Amino acid sequence: MIYLDNSATTKIDPRVIKKMLPYLKEEYGNPTSKHYTLAQNAESAVEVARSNLSTLLNCENDEIIFTSGASESNNFILKGIADYYQDQGNHIITSSVEHKSILKCCNYLEKKGYKITYLPVNKKGQIEIDTLKKAITDQTILISLLWGNNELGSLNPVKKLATVAKENDILFHTDATQILGKIDINAQDIPFDFLSCSAHKIHGPKGVGAAFIKTDDIGLRHELTPLIHGGNQEDGLRAGTLSVHNIVGLGEAARIAFNEMSDYIPKIKRLENLFKEKIKNKISNLYFNGDQTSKIPGIINMTIPIQGVNNKLIITNLEEELAISDGSACSITEPSHVLKAIGLNRNEITSTFRISLSKFNTPEEIEQAIDLLIKTINEFKI
Ligand code: PMP
Repeated sequence: MIYLDNSATTKIDPRVIKKMLPYLKEEYGNPTSKHYTLAQNAESAVEVARSNLSTLLNCENDEIIFTSGASESNNFILKGIADYYQDQGNHIITSSVEHKSILKCCNYLEKKGYKITYLPVNKKGQIEIDTLKKAITDQTILISLLWGNNELGSLNPVKKLATVAKENDILFHTDATQILGKIDINAQDIPFDFLSCSAHKIHGPKGVGAAFIKTDDIGLRHELTPLIHGGNQEDGLRAGTLSVHNIVGLGEAARIAFNEMSDYIPKIKRLENLFKEKIKNKISNLYFNGDQTSKIPGIINMTIPIQGVNNKLIITNLEEELAISDGSACSITEPSHVLKAIGLNRNEITSTFRISLSKFNTPEEIEQAIDLLIKTINEFKI
């Protein structure tokens, strides 16, 4: 089985499993109990993980809040800001190509009386600076925009977008789930106030992620209402006994990403170029969607305009040999809202595929995957 669906999730790095195992066995202490060694060991493991993630983001340790993943972080930040800042305005700006955990949250907030602007994107799936500027009103309390698109791979000009937010004194959140460990994140350089990310996209475990909440120059944290009320874990912002083994896994995955990005990113780029070159040689009218320059390494979104190609049918028939996708794993039943937003018609959407590579893929797998895909397309054209 060749796994080329790394935007959906990634294979866990064996070093991550090794680091996690003791916290599922002998080191089972509760990190907030504190008064005996078992608890202190758990607490220091959590703090090592926090420090590893803050190194990857170039931020302070106390700017990291552990969550169950990026969906929770997105919900926490959007609902938390909408609630906390409701007296200052009721308008939130996002985009039409966000992950469902942002879009559905915004739909929910609309029902509660908030006004949401869903910015349109250009043909490559990116937000234009002027489009953002025009959408800002004196009621805008938050701008939440995806850093890199999970279906297309296109990157948004996040530094410029966040700067527009700052110039207008508006809080800025970015969903960085797909770019973590792929693109440098520098919280000192880019003026975002909030960021969401997840461990399972960087060869860590599922069910753990983080929300970054910026502290200002004098150490004051941006405030927001917790999503989960209860104990005082995570400074009272996210209650519940910490999932120590998962947090340790996230920390180890972040440590590996920080140390090894400069090795595996060029490798992933080489594999991406190999894939694109080889498949284009075999299907000459195939085209790639999204920005092919300003992009997340390893995400390839392509339309195969051959009569009768049905992506779902082909992917299902490839199931035991090759794992690829027709879009996001989180919206399997509906046609992709991202492809619609960049102007693809129904026919084009049903003949579009997403291939997403990781550091564990090899050139041999790329060659075999292309042969398998073409063989299956020829067999299952309708
Ligand atoms: N945002 C983006 C851009 C994603 O790609 C995903 C995962 N597909 C999420 C959020 C949700 O992440 P999680 O699975 O950790 O909830």
